[in-house]
Amino acid sequence: MVILVLNCGSSSIKYQVLDVQEQSQTLLAKGLVERIGLAEGDLTHKPQGKDKFELHCPIPDHTTGIRLVLDALTHPEHGVIKSLDELKAAGHRVAHGGEFFTDSCLVDDEVKAKIESLYSIAPLHNPANLEGILSMEKVLPGIKQVAVFDTSFHHTIPAINHLYAIPYEYYEKYRVRKYGFHGTSHKYVARVGAEMFGLDFENSKIVTCHIGNGASVTAIKNGKSFDTSMGFSPLDGLVMGTRAGSMDVSAATYIAEKEGMSYKELDNMLNKKSGVQGLSGVSSDFRDLSNISSDMRDIDAAYDEGNERAIIARDMYCNRIKKFVGEYAAEMGGVDLVIFTGGVGENSPEVREYVLSNMEFMGIEFDAVRNRGKRGTDYEITAEGSKVKAAVICTDEELVIAKDTFRLVGAN
Ligand code: AMP
Repeated sequence: MVILVLNCGSSSIKYQVLDVQEQSQTLLAKGLVERIGLAEGDLTHKPQGKDKFELHCPIPDHTTGIRLVLDALTHPEHGVIKSLDELKAAGHRVAHGGEFFTDSCLVDDEVKAKIESLYSIAPLHNPANLEGILSMEKVLPGIKQVAVFDTSFHHTIPAINHLYAIPYEYYEKYRVRKYGFHGTSHKYVARVGAEMFGLDFENSKIVTCHIGNGASVTAIKNGKSFDTSMGFSPLDGLVMGTRAGSMDVSAATYIAEKEGMSYKELDNMLNKKSGVQGLSGVSSDFRDLSNISSDMRDIDAAYDEGNERAIIARDMYCNRIKKFVGEYAAEMGGVDLVIFTGGVGENSPEVREYVLSNMEFMGIEFDAVRNRGKRGTDYEITAEGSKVKAAVICTDEELVIAKDTFRLVGAN
C-alpha cells in the first residue's frame, strides 16, 4: 500500500512516500516544501534511486504545496508512482491530541473538529496540521487519512505526574495539565532499544532522550509512558535550541513586568529567543552578529574556541538532560536502558558523554570509544557488562506514521 506521510508546519510540508506491506516498508521518496506564503517558495523532492528535483515558485498555501508534491510523485522523470490511483492513504503528524486521542485514528468530521478545538492550546502546530488534512481532501477527495498524535503515547502518565500543583479547577475548566510531546519518537526508539538488548518491553524501565531542536526526555515503565519532560506545551523541561525549558514562573512574570511585555511577547521570548540561542548569543555567521544561532553545531564550534557563554549554554543543556535521567531512574525505581535520539542525540558524542559520564553509581558504565559509533546506525555506548545499558537509536517518526496508517486503513 503506497502511503504519503505528511508533517505540515505553518510554512512548510515535510513528506515521505512509503510502500508499506504487512512485514516490510520501502521508502520511495521524501522531500520538503518550504516558504509557503512567501513571495518565492521551494520544493525539494528526493526520489529513491533518481536525481533530486528542485522547484522554485510562489507557493501561496498548503493546498498548492500538496498539489506540487503530488505532481512530483507522478512526474514521468522524477516520479515514483505512475498515477495517483496508486496512492491509497495519507498519514499526518498532528502535534496535539489533548485528552481526546489515546491512539492514532482515521480522520472523520469529528476528529477534525477535535483537532480544531485544540487550537488554543497548540496554536503553533494544530492549525497547520489540520490545514494539511483539509488540503489533502481538496486535492484528492475521498482519500483515507490517518492522524498520528505526538501526545497520545503519553496518555498513560499518571495524575501524580500529569497534574500541576495549582488550583484543581484550572484542570477541570481548561484541561491544564502535562500532555507531553515527541510521543511517536519516544515509543519507537524504546521498542527498538528493548529489542536490541533482549528486554521484555512490557517489563522494563527505559529512559528515552529525544534531543533535537525541540527536546524531551521520557520515563517508560513497563512499556508505558510514566513521565515526560515537556508539559502543557513543548516549552517545559530541557534547555532547547530556542526554548528556555523549566524555570521559575515568577522570574518570567518579573521580566514581563519590567519590560512591559504582553503575555504573547513573553511566550515568544521563552519559546523563540531563549535556550542555547539566548544564553550563548553565538552567531552562525561571524559577519552578521544579529544572526544568533540555535544550531548545536555552531554552539559546538564556539565551545571549542573557548567562548564562555557557549560553554555555559552547552554544559547547562547537557546537565539538564542528566538531571532528568537521574530523576526518572529514581521515580521508576531504577532503569535498564537509556536511549539517545534526535538530531543532537544521534549526532553529538559530546552531549552524550557529558550526560552519561560519572553515572557508575547508578550502574551506567559509559564507553567513550563505543560512543563514537557510525552515524546513521544504532549502537550501544556502554561498556561490556554495564548493568544499565545505553544506546544511540535513530528515530523514524515517518515510519511509525506510515505503519499506523497501514494498520488503520487496512482494518477499515
Ligand atoms: P532535529 O530537530 O531532531 O532535526 O535536530 C536538529 C538539531 O540537531 C539542530 O540543533 C542541529 O544542530 C543538531 N545537529 C545535527 N547534526 C549535528 C551534529 N553533527 N552535531 C551536533 N548537533 C547536530
